Amino acid sequence: EAKRSKLGVVEFDDALRAKMLAEQNLRRELDAAIANHEFRLHFQPIVDAETLTIVGLEALVRWQHPAGTRMPGDWLPYAEESGLIVPIGRQLVLQAHAAVERFRLPVAVNVAARQLAEPGFVEQLRQDWGDGDWNKLTLEITESALLQDLAHVIDSLSQLRALGARIAIDDFGTGYSSFARLATLPVDVLKIDRAFVRDLSALGGVAVVRAIVSLAEAFELDIVAEGVERLDQLQALTELGVPKLQGYLLGRPGADAPREIDLATVSAG
Ligand code: C2E
Ligand code: CA
Ligand code: CA
Ligand code: CA
Repeated sequence: EAKRSKLGVVEFDDALRAKMLAEQNLRRELDAAIANHEFRLHFQPIVDAETLTIVGLEALVRWQHPAGTRMPGDWLPYAEESGLIVPIGRQLVLQAHAAVERFRLPVAVNVAARQLAEPGFVEQLRQDWGDGDWNKLTLEITESALLQDLAHVIDSLSQLRALGARIAIDDFGTGYSSFARLATLPVDVLKIDRAFVRDLSALGGVAVVRAIVSLAEAFELDIVAEGVERLDQLQALTELGVPKLQGYLLGRPGADAPREIDLATVSAG
C-alpha cells in the first residue's frame, strides 16, 4: 500500500501509475489479440434515402476478446496512440476485401489519422487489397487526419483515388476543416456527424445540414447522414436532400450484412 500524503502530488503520481499499468496490460492484451487474430469487422448498412435499398456497408471493428466482445471505445484510442492500429488495420483490410466479395456491396473502412500518416500506407494497402474491386472501397478519414502533414495526406488520398477508391470525411462538421479547404481536398463523400442528426428538431441542426447539402452540391460530393435513429429524422433528412442514410433505424452493425431493410421496422419507427 502506497502511503498517501495530503499533497495532491502523490495522489497524481498514483493516478499516473495506475494509468501506466492499465496501458501496459492493454498493450500486452492487444499484442496477443493481434497474434491471435481476435479482431472482427461488423457491418452496418448505408441506405439510399429514396428507395431504402442498401447501397453499401460501413465496416466497424470489434475485438472478440476471450472474456467477451470489446467495443472500440475502450481500446481503440490506445491502439491509435501506440501505433498498434497499423497492424490491426492491415488485418481488417483483408476482412473488408473478403466482405466485398461475400456481400457484393461496397464497403467503407475507417482509417485513423495514425494509419494514414504511416510512411508506405498506400503501398501496403495496395498490396493487401489486391488488384480488383477498388471502386467498391471507401476510406473514411476524420478531419484530424488533415492536421497531419497536409501535403503527404493529399498525396496519399490522390493516389488512392487514382486506384479507384473513394474518400469520405467522417464526422464532418465536428473538426477543423474549413469549408474553403474542401475545394482543394481529394474527397468524394461527406458523412454528417450524428450530433447534427440528433439536433434536427432544433433550428440550428437544420441549418447545419442545409449548409452541408449545398456545399456538397457545389463540390459534387456525395453525403451520408449517420446516427439516424427515428423516422422523423429520416423524413427531415430526405426532405433536406441528403441522399444516403445510416443508423440504428435502418440497421445496427452486425457480423452479417442484411440483404434488405426491414420496412416494417422503419415505418414503425
Ligand atoms: P464512426 O466511424 O463515427 O462510426 C459510427 C459509430 O456510431 C459506430 O460506433 C456505430 O456503431 C455507431 N452508430 C451507428 N448508428 C448509430 C445510431 O443510430 N445511433 C448511435 N447512437 N450510434 C450509432 P462504434 O462501432 O462503436 O465505433 C466507434 C468509432 O470507432 C467509429 O466512429 C470509428 O471512429 C472508430 N472505428 C470503428 N471501427 C474502426 C476501424 O476498423 N478502424 C478504425 N481506425 N477506427 C474504427
Ligand atoms: Ca466512420
Ligand atoms: Ca462517423
Ligand atoms: Ca462519429
